[in-house]
Amino acid sequence: MAVELGYSPEVDDLVKRTTAFIHEVVLPIENANDGDITAAGGDDLRRDLNRQAKELGIFAPHAPVELGGHGLSMSDRVPVFEAGGYSTFGPAALHIGAPDEGNVHMLAHIADDEQKLKYLAPLANGDVRSAFAMTEPAPGAGSDPNQLRTEATKVDGGWKINGEKRFITGAEGAGFYIIMARTAGAPGDRGGATMFLAPGDTPGIEVTRHIHTTDRAMIGGHCEVRFTDVFVPDADVLGEVDQGYRYAQVRLGPARMTHVMRWLGVAVRCHEVAVDYVAHRNGFGGTLGDLGMIQQMVADNEIDLAASRALLVKACYELDQGRHASSETSIAKTFAAEAYSRIVDRSIQMCGGLGVSDDLPLARLQRELRPFRIYDGPSEVHRWALARRAVGRARKSRTSTQQGENA
Ligand SMILES: Cc1cc2nc3c(=O)[nH]c(=O)nc-3n(C[C@H](O)[C@H](O)[C@H](O)COP(=O)(O)OP(=O)(O)OC[C@H]3O[C@@H](n4cnc5c(N)ncnc54)[C@H](O)[C@@H]3O)c2cc1C
Repeated sequence: MAVELGYSPEVDDLVKRTTAFIHEVVLPIENANDGDITAAGGDDLRRDLNRQAKELGIFAPHAPVELGGHGLSMSDRVPVFEAGGYSTFGPAALHIGAPDEGNVHMLAHIADDEQKLKYLAPLANGDVRSAFAMTEPAPGAGSDPNQLRTEATKVDGGWKINGEKRFITGAEGAGFYIIMARTAGAPGDRGGATMFLAPGDTPGIEVTRHIHTTDRAMIGGHCEVRFTDVFVPDADVLGEVDQGYRYAQVRLGPARMTHVMRWLGVAVRCHEVAVDYVAHRNGFGGTLGDLGMIQQMVADNEIDLAASRALLVKACYELDQGRHASSETSIAKTFAAEAYSRIVDRSIQMCGGLGVSDDLPLARLQRELRPFRIYDGPSEVHRWALARRAVGRARKSRTSTQQGENA
């Protein structure tokens, strides 16, 4: 049976309208502000662009239909998020950016009816932003989430949370937090984490510092946050106690893939800028685009784009079948994050001096893209997980063969 790789007319139409909005409205604002979304207006800009996106019927394509979205499957998100990601302001404009989009996905799957009303509905509608608080300063949770140290202790009617987090995207001004905290075991143990929902103005939540990173297109910064005796009622425990790591998987796989989709838009944009440059820049009796070494870079960009897209489509297909797709999402995320870095770097090289100048967007797009090889699992962690699974399979298969021989 042939695998269907095309999209429905509705999705094609959504891509077309999203592309028009991004090029006509969003991109000029991004370029006029050198890609700095805070300087461009931050939340005020986001609300204005969200309103326009709603009027055009292209807002929150991933959100459930009953909450005003299009309810797109993971596979159908691929071309729409790519179109939205073409501008670094696109994700905020369409409300498809991290961490909100991943949080909408997770709440739609795990939250109970009351939590959906209180947290998911305003988030899906863009009334509030949210934050996902997992990473901690050393020696706490980072690449190894089992190092989780933030603690939740049971009190009358709920839980009290104490601990410190860092790199929490969107924490400044977040309407609510999803907090990962330890409810059982000790740092280093597998399991024992729980997810809690807490409004941003809950007493005891304090944004202590903005960490300045290379990127400028996410609202609310990447922050250090302290939790001091933060009270969360039982009703705001997300899912079951001690099941936080299991729920994190519901969020992490799809959230990784939507990052790959959005950054694909940026990689395509870098490639287009470079190809346009070499197609017209004269020299050596023709244009740069006629030279073999330039053609190799153009071709390698095409190969990296096509391979990233293919791995993404495969991983999304698996997720849509209801599978965890741990290996597929790790492969797609690792390959794409590194391929996009190569694409931006080659694009800069092809554009010569202009490539590293502010006259073209390439240098700042490289700064936006670089952290993607670290968040959502550094490349090394995905390789470690992939290799561990492969070696584990080989051991298991030898053991079962030996058992068969001995039987
Ligand atoms: C821009 C940005 C936004 C972020 N947003 C959020 C957010 O909203 N919420 C949140 O909770 N976190 C967020 N993070 C944190 C991010 O998830 C962590 O940075 C990431 O998990 C790595 O953890 P760490 O920084 O503590 O690095 P460490 O755990 O200290 O690792 C450092 C390096 O060691 C290497 N390494 C790690 N493990 C292995 C291994 N098993 N084998 C080989 N090498 C290894 C890798 O190269 C890794 O980069 C964000 C980070 C950034 C940069």
